[in-house]
Amino acid sequence: MFSFFKKKENNDNSDNNGKKEDLDLPSLNNEKEEDQVITNENTLEKKEDLKTEDQTISNGIKEEKSTNNSDEKESQKNFFSRALEKTVSNFSSIIPKKKEIIFFNEIEDVLIEADMEYEVIEQVMEGFENFISRKQLRDRLIPLFANVPKREEENLPKPFVQLIIGVNGAGKTTTIAKLANRYKLKNKKVLLGAGDTFRAAAIEQLSTWASKLDIPIIKTKQGHDASAVAYDTISSGLAKDFDNVIIDTAGRLQTQTNLSHELKKIVKVCSKAQENAPHQKLMILDGTQGNSAIAQAKAFHEMIGIDGIIVTKLDGTAKGGALFSIASQLKLPILYVGIGEKATDLIEFSADAFVDSLLDGIYLKDLEVNKT
Ligand code: GDP
Repeated sequence: MFSFFKKKENNDNSDNNGKKEDLDLPSLNNEKEEDQVITNENTLEKKEDLKTEDQTISNGIKEEKSTNNSDEKESQKNFFSRALEKTVSNFSSIIPKKKEIIFFNEIEDVLIEADMEYEVIEQVMEGFENFISRKQLRDRLIPLFANVPKREEENLPKPFVQLIIGVNGAGKTTTIAKLANRYKLKNKKVLLGAGDTFRAAAIEQLSTWASKLDIPIIKTKQGHDASAVAYDTISSGLAKDFDNVIIDTAGRLQTQTNLSHELKKIVKVCSKAQENAPHQKLMILDGTQGNSAIAQAKAFHEMIGIDGIIVTKLDGTAKGGALFSIASQLKLPILYVGIGEKATDLIEFSADAFVDSLLDGIYLKDLEVNKT
């Protein structure tokens, strides 16, 4: 069964009246009412699906609500260790047995193997003597993530609007679902906007996730104006008191110039719908691409300015070291990493947990050192 909240209601928000005309927006008023709807579909079959999802979600809640700080840190470390398994497994051909101190050339080879850019490797290794301790290397690696911000979850604008950017296949849709699930677990009211109107499959795929997670979505037909979807999603978010609005965007249009124009327009339209929106422009990067993702991110950053990065598919790559280059070259924070295909497979990035998991692959842990 579908429940429809017709678009007209979305535009009842008096703050926004008139602004559409000023902007010469391709108003959805001219479109058939059913073209643009908030849908929320719950079939019996999907509720069954949710049971399994609920199971995972309830585990997620347990994780979120854990009051023990060291437990939380430990479980985050475990997530990173698992996600970096492929990256770390390659180190054993260079350093078969973990050590207390490691030869310069071996460290260099490990960093190359992990797909860290050579420029960054030079920066890390500069001034080191022949042998390097775990602490020495750690002290050089952690600052590469200097742009990781302290997130303030208090006093966020309502709704908090996030625009999700990235090329097709990077994991945009899945990551939107993961973020939405994360906010929902924190009892936030979440609304999605299917802004990749270039691909019918993108609208469909996001709708499927929305339905599975029982989260409403604003969508239109393929080929319709994406900025109008963004506008209506934010207007509806304001009118219906949503906490989080997450808007998808196209990853590809006929030309790069078209894409640039479309993204710029969406950003502008978002700010007309709500002051300072979008509050975060997040770039989704496919972790399996390693360093080649950097050029991609730079192009989008030049177009509209990116506020943060989410790296997907860390579980499926041996190129985990590329995160160092991504963060330091782009001078942007990595906010989350994707570690699987499920809605719960998104973890907050932690420089400490990430670096320690990598170092565990080559160095003895402090405890092990004391034992020897
Ligand atoms: P989009 O085209 O950017 O929207 O990409 P999708 O969200 O459709 O993702 C492309 C593929 O990557 C899908 O098969 C996803 O299940 C998969 N995927 C996305 N994120 C992850 C991740 O963190 N780990 C793994 N292993 N697969 C992922």
